[in-house]
Amino acid sequence: MLLVGDDPASAVYVRNKVKACGEHGLHSVLERHDASMPEPALLARIAELNADPSIHGILVQMPLPRHIDPKRVIAAIDPRKDVDGFSTECAGELMTGLPGLRPCTPHGCMKLIEASGQPLRGRHAVVIGRSNTVGKPMALMLLEAHATVTVCHSATPDLAVFTRQADVLVAAVGRRGTVTAGMVKPGAVVIDVGINRDNAGRLCGDVDPGVAEVAGWLTPVPGGVGPMTITMLLANTVQAAETAAAALGLAA
Ligand code: NAP
Repeated sequence: MLLVGDDPASAVYVRNKVKACGEHGLHSVLERHDASMPEPALLARIAELNADPSIHGILVQMPLPRHIDPKRVIAAIDPRKDVDGFSTECAGELMTGLPGLRPCTPHGCMKLIEASGQPLRGRHAVVIGRSNTVGKPMALMLLEAHATVTVCHSATPDLAVFTRQADVLVAAVGRRGTVTAGMVKPGAVVIDVGINRDNAGRLCGDVDPGVAEVAGWLTPVPGGVGPMTITMLLANTVQAAETAAAALGLAA
């Protein structure tokens, strides 16, 4: 894991990932680099890790300092070690239905939806948000599971028109209060991806707590999608190690 700079939230995220690795028997190494690290130096370090057969997964914690282009950094990671699943190779595999490393957050959301026991085939799933890391891959995974999928975003004129039709609603916006009780179909599965702060400075999601009165299932923030994202990161790392072992003709 590579952490560049001293963003406090990133430090917490990385610490939680290191802790989860330790608790589940995965060896992890955390490298902290100064915020002034030049982009070429980071790319060179990634190249070394790409070439190191003892490393099966590489994670560069986002966001990066402004002078470093995240797209170039993601592109530098060997796709077979891209355990975040952010690379264009991973995106292409998801898009075309090929096996591969899936982006952790939407993959974790799929596991949460599965845990509700509600089938997705033929159901209407609405995703709010269309980022490359959450909204778009989420929509593709729901499509792969045979849901009818609607994707909403900041230019969607009347969000509630769409959200009220959702059997499964995924909110990935980053704005608290985006989804209120009146916007949710009774009994729906509601997955809250957002991470925000309320007026008292406490963590909260995109979904109002009042939605719990209407929804059949609602994931909490904190303690819902966040831990599942870390779980899928570990699963991706194991998958990457198994793929590397198979390529060497070794049993995993
Ligand atoms: P992002 O790149 O900022 O994307 C936000 C999306 O929300 C954009 O597609 C944007 O639309 C849309 N949006 C903004 N305002 C809207 C509105 N009023 N109505 C409808 N859509 C609106 O964020 P992200 O990386 O996808 O993350 C989303 C949230 O999830 C953030 O709070 C982030 O911290 C959280 N997150 C949590 C985890 C976790 O593990 N729990 C992981 C990743 C992200 P446009 O495309 O039109 O701008």
